[in-house]
Amino acid sequence: MNRESLNIVVVGHVDHGKSTLIGRLLYDTDSLSKGAIDKVKRISAEKGKSFEYAYLLDAFEEEQKQGITIDTTRLQFKTDKRDYVIIDAPGHVEFLKNMISGAASAEGAILMVDAEEGIKEQSKRHGYILSLLGIKKVYVAVNKMDLVGYSQDRYREIERDFNEFLNPLGVNPIEYIPISAYYGENITAKSGELSWYEGESIIEAIDSLEKEPEAEQKELRFPIQDVYKFDHRRIIAGRIESGSIEVGDEITIHPSGKQTRVKTLEYWQEGDRSDVAKAGESIGITVEDEFFYNRGDFITHRESSLSTGNRFRGNVFWLGKNDLVPNKKYKLKLSTAEVECQIETIIKAIDASTLEEVESPSGIKKNDVGEVIVRTKSEIGFDLFNELESTGRFVIVDDFDISGGGIILGQEESEAENA
Ligand code: GDP
Repeated sequence: MNRESLNIVVVGHVDHGKSTLIGRLLYDTDSLSKGAIDKVKRISAEKGKSFEYAYLLDAFEEEQKQGITIDTTRLQFKTDKRDYVIIDAPGHVEFLKNMISGAASAEGAILMVDAEEGIKEQSKRHGYILSLLGIKKVYVAVNKMDLVGYSQDRYREIERDFNEFLNPLGVNPIEYIPISAYYGENITAKSGELSWYEGESIIEAIDSLEKEPEAEQKELRFPIQDVYKFDHRRIIAGRIESGSIEVGDEITIHPSGKQTRVKTLEYWQEGDRSDVAKAGESIGITVEDEFFYNRGDFITHRESSLSTGNRFRGNVFWLGKNDLVPNKKYKLKLSTAEVECQIETIIKAIDASTLEEVESPSGIKKNDVGEVIVRTKSEIGFDLFNELESTGRFVIVDDFDISGGGIILGQEESEAENA
């Protein structure tokens, strides 16, 4: 049986203990070879330390690089429940780019805070990034509890102060977990030093996260890639982004809203033939009524939560050499749809390296992020990123270059076209 796998990201201010926690997680779940552990013991001894868990990361990465099949940027560990992949977040810019473009996706996050130092600028920035990306499953690890004498008052203080900052951003941590990554308190098992804490340890906490349903369990999204004429039949071809489709299903085509029924599923290879096709498969279908279909139209089941319209609010990450500015014509790509668009309003612009808000922005600069209202020339179908990731994400093309990407946060009321 395939084991379930969950992606998490560990973020937090420099030196607050991210590497140490990750090293601990790898070590305490037996995800490391004896060779790697021995090497870390040796290096730690040379530096006059007992055992530096942060070094385990280097040893582990080195080991993975020697293997041929393992992706070196992904650290993995297993618990009894499932496998975990730690998405690396080396810098804001790379991380945001990967997350917004869909190159990486984190389902849960651990935000680290040093109990002694308290909340620092980067703790806030990282909290902000989580909100920007719509990551809702967040744990705060209050680390280095050993340095504050495992004080419950200090823990409470951090919880109160950080909530004051995070909650208005829409980030509501599931739990604040007091830990000592260095001494392994509250990582796998409950800690004796922290007996006043009744919640879960780090491993128990992440194991209790509910995994998002797999794409095939979600609503049907079948973006039309092409329509072929074949033996007098018209075959609608595309890749199923989510859900599944069966012969006989009642379907709606968006944005026209026309309805029909699936007559046949057509496969490119004879051996693949089946009466049901699922997320990830590229197929063709024929339908009972012949309408005029466009590339970029969406097929869903008759009842669906897909939005259609020409205005939405989203977060964008901009990489273009020219600033992203209002009232300029761009091309928007969403699944297979390609449509002219404009930025109607820049709600805010944020400098991605400092995460400070830019005052009265006239545009969004290269490598910065922002919240905008996008208006497309014609109506399109789309989802909110929170509900369906792959069809809630878009790309902006400026002058033939892919210049930015974004996620859709909400639908705005549609306005008459060409108004
Ligand atoms: P990162 O920059 O967030 O990856 O932080 P590191 O994991 O490299 O940790 C920074 C320093 O804090 C290292 O010297 C660690 O040994 C130390 N450290 C990490 N966790 C703890 C802890 O729970 N208690 C104590 N006393 N030191 C810790």
